[in-house]
Amino acid sequence: MFYNIVLYAALTVFGIGLIYKISGWFRFSIGIHAKNKTISARIPAALKGLIAVIFSQKLGTLIRVFIMDVLFQIRVLKNDKLRWLMHMLIYAGFMFLFFTHALDRVIPTSLFDRYYLKLNPFLLFSGCLVISGIAIAVYRRFILKVPRLKTNAMDQYVIILLAIIMLSGIALESTKLTSYNHYQKIWYIHILTCFLGLAYLPFSKMFHLFTTPASLLANSVMDKNSDPANIMTRQVMELDSCTHCGTCSFHCSVAVAFDSIGNENILPSERMTFLKDYITRKNINAQGLAAIQQGIYLCTNCDRCTINCPAGINLRDLWFNVREEMIQRGHSVSLMLTPFSFYRGLKQQELDPAQYDNPLHKAEKDLTDPFELVNKTEEIISLTPANREFKESADLSTRTGTYSYCFTCENCSTVCPVVGNYENPQEYLDLLPHQIIRSMGFGVKDLAMGSRMLWYCLTCYQCQEHCPQGVKVTDIFYELKNLAAKEASRSSE
Ligand code: SF4
Ligand code: SF4
Ligand code: SF4
Ligand code: SF4
Repeated sequence: MFYNIVLYAALTVFGIGLIYKISGWFRFSIGIHAKNKTISARIPAALKGLIAVIFSQKLGTLIRVFIMDVLFQIRVLKNDKLRWLMHMLIYAGFMFLFFTHALDRVIPTSLFDRYYLKLNPFLLFSGCLVISGIAIAVYRRFILKVPRLKTNAMDQYVIILLAIIMLSGIALESTKLTSYNHYQKIWYIHILTCFLGLAYLPFSKMFHLFTTPASLLANSVMDKNSDPANIMTRQVMELDSCTHCGTCSFHCSVAVAFDSIGNENILPSERMTFLKDYITRKNINAQGLAAIQQGIYLCTNCDRCTINCPAGINLRDLWFNVREEMIQRGHSVSLMLTPFSFYRGLKQQELDPAQYDNPLHKAEKDLTDPFELVNKTEEIISLTPANREFKESADLSTRTGTYSYCFTCENCSTVCPVVGNYENPQEYLDLLPHQIIRSMGFGVKDLAMGSRMLWYCLTCYQCQEHCPQGVKVTDIFYELKNLAAKEASRSSE
């Protein structure tokens, strides 16, 4: 009786949790594919996509990925052998337990006489596998302290729950033959923890048992031509697939910036946590938004996170969407202009043409607003006294100091492909490259940092290569951009 009540209560919570979580994949949306896609359109689209894959040649890919990446977890093996061993031990142990213990009335009792009346080697073997796996998990987290792997409260609950289940299970087997009294007490502990674990599963990190295989399989058969409704659903599901393993952050090309700045949102694994809150419309304060913008700004679109993610999450598309999502919600985009406009350019055909230029214009405005002089084209500018503070702040390195060698030959502007793109370049770019360099020499901060030329620069290094005076024009522009972005973010605080 007690057993049945607790079992059905746990199953009910588990079922509700499962429905709640899966419905979230269809309720929430992210990015440019989110437009005009309601739940009633997304669920049939997902079923249709699934059926189309099953009855196509992609079924072979699906089976291969299931065997290699889901069953044998080859992606994890490639990244970290100890982690792979831990996964396999826990996974194989639980599979054994499921068939020899949870399904005991179906399989083993029909094969073996008096299955439960003696010490059960199947259970002991499975228990040893799982406990070895848990021991490796504890070792990695608390002794080895794997770089970028963070342990939060949820990880600790899961480890504690699993440990209690396994230890009480072993104690149960041992007391079966020695003390009925102890056996009964431990039985209650064991049963209650097992069912607590079952009820907690959809709300815990262990939910990735379902979502990670789903993400691996979906990504193996989906591409940019897939139904936008399904891409959106997959992306929301991917947020549940993330195990917060830290592999992406370990490989991230700008993770070194985290070591010096300390902003966690530079790390892709931490940004996944932010994204979950962002799409569920949790309240994120201005400080949180500024931190994520810095992370997005520093991201180089190098793709190393996507290539190395053991859960097969397409982080490349997620980063693009979070940038686009922030624009759609009207958050300031000034800090993400250069890397974002480059990536956006690659995705131009997927974006709404009528909206395409809006965020870029807004970002330009955010960046140039703090520099009033650049917009007052008729004003006569006094060159004395020189803005020493600005000149000193711009002397970041020996390379930037080369601006003083400029003798205004205009070579840099002549070879610049951006300048050459316009019939009347000053109308669109405010200042040309040689004028920016001269503005630095004169210490006119507003002109050096406020012109649109800085942000349209392609970093092609043509100007720097052709300068007869050895002025490091492109490097100077890069440092000016950083200074201008800092100034713009200060003025928007
Ligand atoms: S995105 Fe992938 S690699 Fe990064 S923490 Fe999540 S599961 Fe690990
Ligand atoms: S794409 Fe961005 S987040 Fe991903 S590894 Fe490269 S720099 Fe890091
Ligand atoms: S090419 Fe060199 S010297 Fe000539 S204007 Fe440009 S920065 Fe100055
Ligand atoms: S690096 Fe920038 S400023 Fe220099 S030539 Fe290329 S686009 Fe023009």
